[in-house]
Amino acid sequence: MSEKKWHGIPRDKIPWYPSIDFSKCTGCGKCLDYCKLGTYVFEEKDEKKRPVVKNPNNCVVLCSGCDAICSTGAISHPSKKEFNEQLKELRKNPDFRLHKNPT
Ligand code: SF4
Ligand code: SF4
Repeated sequence: MSEKKWHGIPRDKIPWYPSIDFSKCTGCGKCLDYCKLGTYVFEEKDEKKRPVVKNPNNCVVLCSGCDAICSTGAISHPSKKEFNEQLKELRKNPDFRLHKNPT
C-alpha cells in the first residue's frame, strides 16, 4: 500500500488528530457516530465504554468537526497557530519541502 501523504509530507509525521479529555467525556458516543473515518473506536475501561483515538492518521488534516459535536468539550485539536509552527519545522526537512512542478 502506498504511503499516505499530505502536501508531500507523510501523514504519520503530521501531528493533527483529536485528543480526548476523559475527565469531561461522558461516553455518549456522538464522536464515533459523527466521524465515519474510523479515527475513533470504543473501548471498555472500568466497565464503562469510552472512545479512544485508535487511528489518528485517519483524521483529515485541518478538520476539527468533532470538537463541536462533543457537548462537554472533551475533544480538542491543536490550534492553527501550533499547527503552522509544527508545519514550519517539518518543512525544514528537505524531503518535505514543496517543489514546483517543472514546466
Ligand atoms: S462526544 Fe465527547 S463526551 Fe461523547 S463520547 Fe465523544 S468525547 Fe466523550
Ligand atoms: S476532526 Fe474530522 S476527520 Fe478528524 S476525527 Fe474529527 S470528524 Fe473525523
